[in-house]
Amino acid sequence: MSNKTLTATNPANDNVLNEYATLSKDDLARKLDQTRESYPAYSQLPLEERARRLNVLADLIDEHKEEMATLIAREMGKPYQQGLSETQISSSITRFYADNLDELMDPEPRDVEGAESAMIVKDPMGAVLGVMPWNYPLYQVVRFAAPNLAGGNVCLLKHASNVPGCAELITQLFHKAGFEEGVFTWLPIGAEMVESIINDPIVCGVTLTGSEEAGRKVAQQAGAALKPSVLELGGIDPLIVLDDAEIERAVDLAIAGRFDNTGQSCAASKRLIVDKSLAKDFTARLIEKVKQMRMDDPLVEGIDIGPMSRKDLRDDLHDQVQRAIKAGAKLECGGEIPDRAGAWYPPTVLSNVTQGNPAFSEELFGPVASVVIAENEDHAIQLANDCPYGLGSTVVSKDLERGERVARQLEAGMSFVNRPTTPFAQLPFGGVKGSGYGREQSEYGFGAFMNIRTVYVA
Ligand code: NAP
Repeated sequence: MSNKTLTATNPANDNVLNEYATLSKDDLARKLDQTRESYPAYSQLPLEERARRLNVLADLIDEHKEEMATLIAREMGKPYQQGLSETQISSSITRFYADNLDELMDPEPRDVEGAESAMIVKDPMGAVLGVMPWNYPLYQVVRFAAPNLAGGNVCLLKHASNVPGCAELITQLFHKAGFEEGVFTWLPIGAEMVESIINDPIVCGVTLTGSEEAGRKVAQQAGAALKPSVLELGGIDPLIVLDDAEIERAVDLAIAGRFDNTGQSCAASKRLIVDKSLAKDFTARLIEKVKQMRMDDPLVEGIDIGPMSRKDLRDDLHDQVQRAIKAGAKLECGGEIPDRAGAWYPPTVLSNVTQGNPAFSEELFGPVASVVIAENEDHAIQLANDCPYGLGSTVVSKDLERGERVARQLEAGMSFVNRPTTPFAQLPFGGVKGSGYGREQSEYGFGAFMNIRTVYVA
């Protein structure tokens, strides 16, 4: 081990929870060698055995849900009930790949001129490096690891530096399910060691979930090594409230879409784009409900908002809010750092947010809702698409056909009508533009790091 450490700090009170030694260069080399040795045997395991282990993992995630949700709450501040929901989606993704593995791996015959047989087959390629963020410490890991382990690849995890305890518990669960060290390996390291791992011959690709800045760096490193990458980056997702929407429902969807996970979700509804005929009423009811939200320790029952995950990110958010106000946004509630230890930021509403305002054109990664007024449907679509990102999106309307028509015009990887962007194992997750490229979940998440091969027999 090196003498550097990863420190887990409780963002609710600044108390240090634990310190974890990071790997030295030699430790890292040993772990990569172990991965190299484990890959051939693992990739040859029968499909039934890989599926069996995935099902065991899903059961273990369910069995340890309270422990996991508690640790997530302590290390990054997620309200406990929301941590339980995170374990649920994680076990459902794991089961999805176990249940569908035969079909996903089935050779696909093609009728081709001159061939006795021609088909497409999928083979694993080696170790996939996952560089993961802290905001969904379990779900993000499962989302990359489950399809890769199903397909016969092995996994290396570089988790965010502020959730080492989560990384350790997740690793224990994978190992207990039979994905032993060398097949699923946690690398407690800082970001500076990522490039050397990408360059190692056993690594066949890298997937990163995180900021645009980190995404650009890792994509450049992967490009230089001629290895594929998947990037799941940020978003400033729109939630469009059309003129026929039921206001109470629209406000509830906006609150769920914006404030879940204390606003720290890549696909949160960060811009609430409301038709001008409803804007006054919508904003008044939004403010009323946001003022009633309960902010408290994430382990206290019934709370809506926990602390943010880190103080530096809280301070960045506050700076963005202040710049937004200077640029003309109106602070309706919240917006002040409370006088208490920890990374607290109150649920905040900004109105009068227009194009060019920082609250319109920058990602605010915390509990801040920005209300934008649209003249009509076309204007709402235009505002929604005036964005450097394109991850998720929501349209609220009583008319489902109209909602779908509008949703289909949005430049986003995911569009939902009458529901905030929500992950489902069966549906692809990912974005366009600055939100990155590639897809996770569903069959599209399965193929990302597989060698999709042609086999032609004449
Ligand atoms: P981040 O700073 O980019 O960190 C994400 C991961 O990348 C961490 O493991 C981090 O390691 C690592 N990293 C950072 N800089 C790196 C570099 N130069 N080279 C290699 N690795 C590097 O992001 P964050 O603050 O944790 O998360 C917030 C951002 O992520 C937001 O923009 C959000 O929208 C986005 N996000 C996107 C999704 C999605 O699914 N699309 C999901 C969650 C979050 P260290 O922790 O050691 O620095």
